[in-house]
Amino acid sequence: MLCPGCARPVVQFLCDRCRASLRPAPERIVGDGLRVIAAFAHEGLARDLVHGLKYRGLLGFPWVVAGALADRVPPHPLVPVPRVLSRRLLHGVDPSLELARAISALTGIPIVRVLRPPLHAPRRAGRDHRAAPPRFRVAGPVPPQVVLVDDVVTTGGTLLAAASVVGSQKVAAAVAATVAREKR
Ligand SMILES: [Zn+2]
Repeated sequence: MLCPGCARPVVQFLCDRCRASLRPAPERIVGDGLRVIAAFAHEGLARDLVHGLKYRGLLGFPWVVAGALADRVPPHPLVPVPRVLSRRLLHGVDPSLELARAISALTGIPIVRVLRPPLHAPRRAGRDHRAAPPRFRVAGPVPPQVVLVDDVVTTGGTLLAAASVVGSQKVAAAVAATVAREKR
């Protein structure tokens, strides 16, 4: 296969040089104290790979993310933040579920799918984050502590919306990539 970063032939998902180009991201706190652990800064190749996962089903990327997060994720059940149903059907992949599966496979931490997505919500990817965050529902009992899993955190609006229905005091979050904190 070909490296999705540089298109050179590789035996694994990313060549060593492209893998090394992914910049680690520091932890962030969003809202009133939601701790967000991110594998990478959302820039350059990491940004392209997130896009590839969301829109082209690039299923090697979750394993790279899981490798970067495995030692840093709190050992609580993983709750994927589900993709809005209309977009899941359109793109055929739920990125946060794929990320949770890879993290779970590497760490042994179970996945608990207690969040249900809305049928549709205004598009939030890209620059326009003025739209209201999606309205999630909880289906079933939530463990005492959980780790929300999502693909990208920008303003944190989606994660905070998910945290508010799960119980904000119960959660941390793990994401594939984080946008640098926005300038005021
Ligand atoms: Zn490469």
